[in-house]
Amino acid sequence: MTTDGIKRSGRWDRIVLKLSGEAFAGEAGYGIDGEIAAQIATEIVKVRAEFDVDVAVVVGGGNIWRGMTGAGAGMDRAQADYMGMLATVINALALQDTLERLNQPTRVQTAIGMAQVAEPYIRRRAIRHLEKGRVVIFAAGTGNPFFTTDTAAALRAVEVEAGVLLKGTHSGTDGIYTADPRTDPNAERLDEVQYLDVLSQGLRAMDSTAVSLCMDNKLPIVVFDLMKPGNVSAILDGQLIGTLVS
Ligand code: UDP
Repeated sequence: MTTDGIKRSGRWDRIVLKLSGEAFAGEAGYGIDGEIAAQIATEIVKVRAEFDVDVAVVVGGGNIWRGMTGAGAGMDRAQADYMGMLATVINALALQDTLERLNQPTRVQTAIGMAQVAEPYIRRRAIRHLEKGRVVIFAAGTGNPFFTTDTAAALRAVEVEAGVLLKGTHSGTDGIYTADPRTDPNAERLDEVQYLDVLSQGLRAMDSTAVSLCMDNKLPIVVFDLMKPGNVSAILDGQLIGTLVS
């Protein structure tokens, strides 16, 4: 918050933050690390306190289960994908608990009905929650196998008319590079790139379905290092953080 307690208006009024499941796992690579969840939740609360911005979150599930892993081991792909979608709900409930312990009102909405633990996804209701200052966590991806939570994030962002999709990365990657920076010493980070270049050059940002959906709906994407505290605020403030896809 500013010193006079007035919230600033950032670059966008409403944002969708995509958190990959692996981000929750921290060093362990599996499960949920409470400290990381608290760090992410603190960042969300801080941004809401500082800026007049609605925040919706789409969580992944890769820290628990990925459909492709099961399919690779011979499982039915759709069955394995449904398991992945359920994994995202576990992360969503963990994030909800962490946010609520910081006194941030939240709602979880799932794309697969599970009335005992969360609301079903209802677009108008999600928008109403956002207008009331609640953080809405979208779980269970799109509700359909053969998709990813990146695509769910693009879809929800377009549906709730967010101004931007913020795709948080972890494991030290802080944007989109010309090649994999972990293996290629000549890889350069791009400040800005066009959707079509991401698609045609196969740049590692989000899957092509997600990028296409953003392109078709002119929804900008910022790929940034989620693990660096203050990055979300800095992006809203207009600073050059990560890579802007537009
Ligand atoms: N998934 C799916 N449909 C969706 C979203 C996710 O079938 O709309 C499944 C898919 O098996 C995926 C898993 O859920 O591997 C976890 O999501 P994702 O891999 O996107 O999570 P992240 O990489 O962000 O942790």
